[in-house]
Amino acid sequence: MIHPSEIRLDIHTHTLASGHAYGTIREMAESAKERGLSALGISEHAPGIPGTCDPIYYTNLRMAPHMLYGVEILYGCEANVLNDGTLSLDEKHINLVDYVIAGIHGRCYEDAGIEKNTENVISCMKHPRVFLVSHPDDDHTPLDYERLVAGAKAYHTALEVNNSSLLKQDKRLNCVENYKRMLRLCQEYRVPVIVSSDAHDPAYVGRFEESCELLNEVGFDKELVMNTSVKRFKAFIGM
Ligand SMILES: [Zn+2]
Ligand SMILES: [Zn+2]
Repeated sequence: MIHPSEIRLDIHTHTLASGHAYGTIREMAESAKERGLSALGISEHAPGIPGTCDPIYYTNLRMAPHMLYGVEILYGCEANVLNDGTLSLDEKHINLVDYVIAGIHGRCYEDAGIEKNTENVISCMKHPRVFLVSHPDDDHTPLDYERLVAGAKAYHTALEVNNSSLLKQDKRLNCVENYKRMLRLCQEYRVPVIVSSDAHDPAYVGRFEESCELLNEVGFDKELVMNTSVKRFKAFIGM
């Protein structure tokens, strides 16, 4: 059994800089403190999502706070998986963040069918700075979970259990069924997962209840959850 309070960092969150999110870094950190988190990861959307920050955002992160209210702040990026299997952020900027999350977003991706979608995600997993695939749960862009999980294992990438998906199931087609299938395969092949809020507002930071409920429902081994300690997560991303 895993309890939400055992998830010590929330590495997938967005601030005002993403253009369709509503908190500042400080407000997000304050919320993380209230939730009792040890660390918070800010992962703004890379180009491709309308209204998100220009890549210049990533060039000045040394000036951004790395500790607020006793919460360590990390800076990642959520890059888009594109239809040609590449990421929507160039190498120069990828190298400026602590970690890269790769995910399919309908705003800049056209469903290419289950085989090609899976191939595109796996192609992005091969990038050495990609450590997580966000919300691999939506049948609007279906994925082959056997291949996805095998790819995650081969390329040292975790698969996400995205709490926002579970809160807006009307938007993510068959997400509960897809997660159950994915989690059973992750357990069988010992593939790491990361639980995230994908908060777009401070109110959702550190909200992991729905994800933990699902993990417990399938009897998931918490040893495979990479964000149950900051040390563990940092080791996973080589930080
Ligand atoms: Zn996303
Ligand atoms: Zn996100």
